[in-house]
Amino acid sequence: MDLVTFAAPRIAAATAKAPKVETYDAGGSEDPAGGFGTLVRSGDDKASGDAAIDAAHTNAGIVRDFYQQVLGRNSIDGAGMDMKSVVHFGKDYNNAYWDGAKMTYGDGDGKFFAPLSGALDVVAHEMTHGVTEHTARLEYAGQAGALNESWSDVLGEIVEQWSENRSGFGTPDAARGADWLIGEDVMTPGTAGDALRSMKAPGTAYDGDVQPADMAHYQEMPNDEEHDNGGVHINSGIPNKAAYDAAIKVGSEKVAKIWYTALTDFLKPSADFAAAAGATIAAATKLYGEGAESQAVADAWKAVGVTAATGITRATHTAGEAPARGDNDGIVPRWLQHGPPAA
Ligand SMILES: [Zn+2]
Repeated sequence: MDLVTFAAPRIAAATAKAPKVETYDAGGSEDPAGGFGTLVRSGDDKASGDAAIDAAHTNAGIVRDFYQQVLGRNSIDGAGMDMKSVVHFGKDYNNAYWDGAKMTYGDGDGKFFAPLSGALDVVAHEMTHGVTEHTARLEYAGQAGALNESWSDVLGEIVEQWSENRSGFGTPDAARGADWLIGEDVMTPGTAGDALRSMKAPGTAYDGDVQPADMAHYQEMPNDEEHDNGGVHINSGIPNKAAYDAAIKVGSEKVAKIWYTALTDFLKPSADFAAAAGATIAAATKLYGEGAESQAVADAWKAVGVTAATGITRATHTAGEAPARGDNDGIVPRWLQHGPPAA
C-alpha cells in the first residue's frame, strides 16, 4: 500500500475529524446517569447562564484550539476525540480530574475552592494528562510521575498565557511577566496570591508548600498513595522550575513546542529527570537546531541540578492501558483537598 507517500496528506485533510466540545451536568451527584448526567451545552450552543458549565465549555474549547493552532495536534488523542466535561460533580467537591474519557469538575466548597472549571490552567493541566496518556505514557510514580505532573503544569500554564496574550505570548518578556501559578483562580477564593503550585518559585505557592526548586532539595518518598506516589506533586517543582527558566530566555511558545515534542518523540514511560533533560534538549535541537534554544534548555536543567542524559533516541509509543493513577490523581493533591495545611 503506497497510501502514505502519495495520497495520505489529502485524505487526512479531507477526513480529519474535528473534536466537538460537549458539557454535561451531574446535578450534584457523584454517580450521574450514564457517567455523564445531562448534556447541557454542545458545540456552538449559546451560553447556558450557569457559570461552572460555561467555564468548562469555553475552557475546553481553548485547550482544543491551543493544541490545534500552536502544537498542530488534533485534540487529546491526536485523532479528534470529542472534548467532554462533567460539571457540578458531587457536593462541595474540591477537585477536578481527567479519567481517560472526560473531564470532571467539582464545585468546590466555596471556602478552599471555587468551581474548578473556572481555572483554564487547571482544565489544560488535566487535559494534558490525557495527551500524555496517548504519547509518552509516563508512569505515575517517582521521577516519571513527577514529570507527568510537571508536563501538565507546563502546558497548563502556557495555555493560560496564550489565552491571555495570543499575539505576544511567544516573547521572553511575556514569559517574564506571567504569574507561573497553577490554580490561583480557584484556590481559596478569599485569599489573594496563593495557588496550588508556583513554577517560578516552587515552595512558595502557599504557607506550608514543600515543593523543591532544585535537586539539592529533592524529596525521596515511598512510592505509595499516602506519599503522593513518591512525591509526584512535590518533586515536580524541579522540572517546573527548569521549564520556567527556559521560557524566560526563549519564550513560552518555544518551550511549549519543545516540551510537547519531547513528550511525543523522546520521552519513554520510565523516564527520570536526567532523561527528561536529554529529551527536551533533543527536542529543541530537532526543532531549532543546535543554538540558543537547545542551550537555554540545557542551562535551565543545569541550574536546577539535573545533569542531562546523553544518547537520547527517538521513542516509539505503543498504545495501551493508560498509566494507573490513584484516587489522588486530580489537580488537587490529597493534602490540599481540605485547604492548605496552615489554614
Ligand atoms: Zn496532575
